[in-house]
Amino acid sequence: MRQWIVGLLALATVQVLAAPTPWQKIAHPIAGNPQAIGAFANGCIVGAQPLQLEAANYQVLRPDQRRYYGHPDLLLFIVRLSNQVKHLGLGNLLVGDMAMPAGGRFGSGHASHQSGLDADIWLQLPRQRWSAAQLLKPQPLDLVTANGRDINANLWQPQTAMLIKLAAEDPEVTRIFVSPAIKKQLCRVAGQDRGWLTKVRPWFGHRAHMHVRLRCPADSRECQEQAPPPAGDGCGAELDSWFLPAKPGTGGGPAKQPPPLPPSCQALLDRRLVTE
Ligand SMILES: [Zn+2]
Repeated sequence: MRQWIVGLLALATVQVLAAPTPWQKIAHPIAGNPQAIGAFANGCIVGAQPLQLEAANYQVLRPDQRRYYGHPDLLLFIVRLSNQVKHLGLGNLLVGDMAMPAGGRFGSGHASHQSGLDADIWLQLPRQRWSAAQLLKPQPLDLVTANGRDINANLWQPQTAMLIKLAAEDPEVTRIFVSPAIKKQLCRVAGQDRGWLTKVRPWFGHRAHMHVRLRCPADSRECQEQAPPPAGDGCGAELDSWFLPAKPGTGGGPAKQPPPLPPSCQALLDRRLVTE
């Protein structure tokens, strides 16, 4: 079964990434004009800024982890989205992991979020603001059934689709990753207005949060953009393929080692190691 192979793969990935990385030791952003460098899954950021923790329209989860840094464009996006969510009365926006102060590879949990342009936004929109204790140990709401094939109808709210649509319609957003079951639900409820579905991509996990990715900022010349997603709403054969058993011989093999860093990120690490 695909799920079984996916589970094995996820395990392998976690084992490879479990070792601490030098990026985790960097406690403060690298000074300079904001520059997202490299690829989303192999990069870093200069001039990152912290998301404001005290805000009327959103709350930051696990603030003790200090994964709330990003390119200023990412901070502006979160403020923009949270203002829209508030204005429409959808609930309280919960912001999960963004990037570490200089970006780079996490010790565990994420392959991307490296260049300050990715953010996890939780799909639950509580009516009440969460307490500090709830923010430190947030309880994810799993919107997908145990077999991964559909949404959990008891937990799904129309606001969830509205939140994902708002994010997808933001001109700075290029991709949003959600569970295939959530994409299937969005395909069902979208109606005639389907252009935004192009950006919503099925991916492993992402059962309680969406992962939002922004385009490379125009002045980040070393930022590597991804090719745009295929045209269309992505509700046909591509989505269906996620629910088929995996073909024999696919998905196995040893986990890959991370690729070499972009030279500017490596130089940044080398410089810091010398000065510390
Ligand atoms: Zn993510």
